[in-house]
Amino acid sequence: MMGRKIAVIPGDGIGPEIVREAQKVLDAAGKKFGFELDYTEVLMGGASIDVHGVPLTEEAIETAKNSEAVLMGSIGGDAKTSPWYQLPPQRRPEAGLLGIRKALNLFANLRPAYLYEELRAACPLREDISKAGFDMLIMRELTGGLYFGERYTKTEDGIRKAVDTLEYNENEIRRIAVKAFDIARKRRCKVCSVDKANVLDSSRLWRAVVEEVAKDYPDVTLEHMLVDNCAMQLVRDPAQFDVILTENMFGDILSDEASMVTGSIGMLSSASLNETKFGLYEPSHGSAPDIAGKNIANPIATILSAAMMLRYSLDLDEAADGIEAAVRQVLADGYRTGDIWSEGCIKVGTVEMGDQIAQRV
Ligand code: NAD
Repeated sequence: MMGRKIAVIPGDGIGPEIVREAQKVLDAAGKKFGFELDYTEVLMGGASIDVHGVPLTEEAIETAKNSEAVLMGSIGGDAKTSPWYQLPPQRRPEAGLLGIRKALNLFANLRPAYLYEELRAACPLREDISKAGFDMLIMRELTGGLYFGERYTKTEDGIRKAVDTLEYNENEIRRIAVKAFDIARKRRCKVCSVDKANVLDSSRLWRAVVEEVAKDYPDVTLEHMLVDNCAMQLVRDPAQFDVILTENMFGDILSDEASMVTGSIGMLSSASLNETKFGLYEPSHGSAPDIAGKNIANPIATILSAAMMLRYSLDLDEAADGIEAAVRQVLADGYRTGDIWSEGCIKVGTVEMGDQIAQRV
């Protein structure tokens, strides 16, 4: 059987440890659900600087492009102590991440925020709010808007002035709206589009184009919400959300807020997609250099990212469900890495957590 091509970027810090566990779980899922993955390892970030002098090579981009998806750990080191941060900004580890996103045209960033019943104690929300649980997915536009518009700083008549430009065209809005509606169909068929249409022209265009796209999805319910209200609703009643669709800066802020309310950084997966089925899958957290090499990092965010990869890039929904169910079962059985451990639970390291999940797939 020919395996499906996956590029793997272990990266820096805890990256190699958590990616290894994700591959273990993917292989267990392959045996159970009848597929095979063919991995090609790629260096990026600090690991690439050490070998090639640059955080991302053309060869790495080519390998990614020739794959159906990329599974990544995380990149970067300790900015205070690592020699990588003595380099100019465009040669530092993070430049590799921006470079690969651009080269692969990854314009849609997905971050699920799910509250596991077993981890409810870590949720910072009041119990009367958290008891309803929540299961949402934030879809953030990643390559346009304020972060990519024209910007400059100048002095006019002795007064310093800075300008940033927020620009979107209808094609950029349409392609991400289509992604959001498609993904809503794999979930609970609800899209909440977030904007600031009472003030911004870019938001009024956003709203108009999202309305047009919605016409092709009569089975998906669309709602619009102003971003200030959304920030409030995320802590007041997070259970109301399924897919939240929003532009780059709003999504940057709201996705951090949504991940914070889950209370468990080691559990949060993410995906970045382009117009095809291709995607890059990675945990939301960083490379945690403070705990690297100690076998204590939580591999679950990476394992759940691998499950998303099966669902969105490989259309192996059943196997993705299987991995997610195995994660829930391991938590129900009381296994915890240090970051999510509480009294009465069984503390395990990175490798054993991977083993326990793989066994239950
Ligand atoms: P971080 O997410 O790496 O760590 C924050 C804290 O959470 C640390 O105390 C860490 O030990 C803990 N933590 C993170 N992931 C964990 C896990 N899986 N299990 C247990 N504990 C975990 O954020 P940071 O310290 O601000 O950044 C460290 C490096 O990561 C920096 O170089 C930064 O640039 C990089 N970074 C990379 C990405 C990415 O690759 N996409 C994202 C964010 C940060």
